[in-house]
Amino acid sequence: MPITPFHFCPGVLLKAAATDRMSWTVFVLANCLIDMEPVTLFLVSGEPAHPWLHTLPGAVLVAAVAATPGRPFCELWLRWWNRNLSGAQARWLGCGTVIGKKAAWVGALLGTGTHLALDMFMHADVRPAWPFFADNPFAGKIPVETLQWGALAALLPALVIFLLRQRRAQ
Ligand SMILES: [Zn+2]
Repeated sequence: MPITPFHFCPGVLLKAAATDRMSWTVFVLANCLIDMEPVTLFLVSGEPAHPWLHTLPGAVLVAAVAATPGRPFCELWLRWWNRNLSGAQARWLGCGTVIGKKAAWVGALLGTGTHLALDMFMHADVRPAWPFFADNPFAGKIPVETLQWGALAALLPALVIFLLRQRRAQ
C-alpha cells in the first residue's frame, strides 16, 4: 500500500486511545517516509521494491528520522492547520501545536510498526523480522480487501471515542 490513507487509519484509533501520549502527525510522517523506499525504487528501476526500510532496523531508522528532525516540521504543519480553520472548525478540529519528544517517538514507532504489520501481508519482498528471519511467511495470508476494510473499520471506534470526548469537554 504505497502511501495510501489506509495506513493512517489504525493511527486514528491509536491516537483516540492514546491522546497526547502519541502524535498522529508524526505517525503519518513516518508512514510517508517509509514508503519513499518503493516510490524511489519505482522511479529509478521501475520496481517498487521494499528491500531495506521495510525491515525491523529500517523501520526503527525511519521512526528516528520522523521523531527527531521530522518533529519540528510536524509542529509547523499543525500551526498552519490551525491558522486555516474558521472559529467553528477550530472548536472541533483545532489541535495542540507542540509535540513532546516522547509523543513523537510513540507516534513514529507505531507508524512504522503498523506500516510493516500491514505491508507484510501485501508484499512478498517485505521482510518484517530481518535480520532475525529473512523470510516473510505472512505474504498473501490475508486478502488485500480484508486488510483495507480492517483498516477502515478502525475509524468507527475512533470516531465514537472522539465524539464522546468532545461531548464531555463541552
Ligand atoms: Zn510500505
